Parts: sequence; structure tokens; C-alpha cells
Amino acid sequence: MRIGLGEDTHRLVAGGPLRLGGIDIPHDHHAQGHSDADVLLHAVTDALLGAAGLPDIGQLFPDDLEENRHRDSAEMLYVAYEHVQRAGFNSVNLDCVIAAESPKLAPHKEAVCRRMAEILAIEPSRVNIKAKTGEGVGPIGEQKIIQARCVALLEKKREL
Ligand code: MG
Repeated sequence: MRIGLGEDTHRLVAGGPLRLGGIDIPHDHHAQGHSDADVLLHAVTDALLGAAGLPDIGQLFPDDLEENRHRDSAEMLYVAYEHVQRAGFNSVNLDCVIAAESPKLAPHKEAVCRRMAEILAIEPSRVNIKAKTGEGVGPIGEQKIIQARCVALLEKKREL
């Protein structure tokens, strides 16, 4: 068993929708970034890579490369998980925390879990998401940023 931690932050700017966990959530702000700025998938990608002892998302997909501009983070996660599996590991489970003042994420949690499980080809029950606000204070509470954290557990593939 190997455990990994991933964390990411993106600036929020006016205009929706908000891309989060591979789906577009209706909102009046979106996350800004070189790729599609999916803060949750970036945290998940780094947690999986970290658990496998592989280079991080910034090394795998440099943000100064034109080919990574507006890149679909679902595709980056898929490619990263291929690296993880080639290194001999399978995902056991992911546990994530999203910190955003708004929108309310509860109505979207199930769809996000399903989408993340679909990208990784694992059971949705192996993906968990919790949503927190910033209690109206600080950069999260003032809706200047959105953050995500993820811990990922991997198991070594069984030799046949
Ligand atoms: Mg990012």
C-alpha cells in the first residue's frame, strides 16, 4: 500500500461555468489557469502520482507548453493514472476536500464522484468528496480562490 497527497489552488474570475471534477457546474465564476483549471482533478492527479512516487503534474504537463493550454484535466488525469498503473499500482480509494465559498456543491457531489470514477475506470464508491466553505473570511471566503485536496491510496498489483 502507498499513500499520496495532492493539493491545488486556482484564482476565481467572473463568468461561469465552474469546471470541477470533470464536469461544468453552473456558477457566476470560473477558475483561471493554463489548462481548464480543474482544481479538483489537479489535486487528484498529484495525489495519485505522489503515491506512486512519480513526478508531479507540473513536471508531467508543464504550464509553459502550448499543447497544455486549455487542456482537458480529465485527459491529464487519465494519462497520469496510466503512468501509475505502469508503475505497478491500482487505486484503492480517493478522499477529497474542496474549499469554495460557493456554489453549494452538495447537489453536484454525486455527479462529480461518478465522473472521476469514470475517468479512472474504478467504482464510484472508491471516490469520496467533501465540500467546505471559507466561512466568509480569507481568500476562500471572499471567493478569490478555490482549493482542493486529495489523499489517494494505491495497492501494488498482484503478480499473476
Ligand atoms: Mg492546477
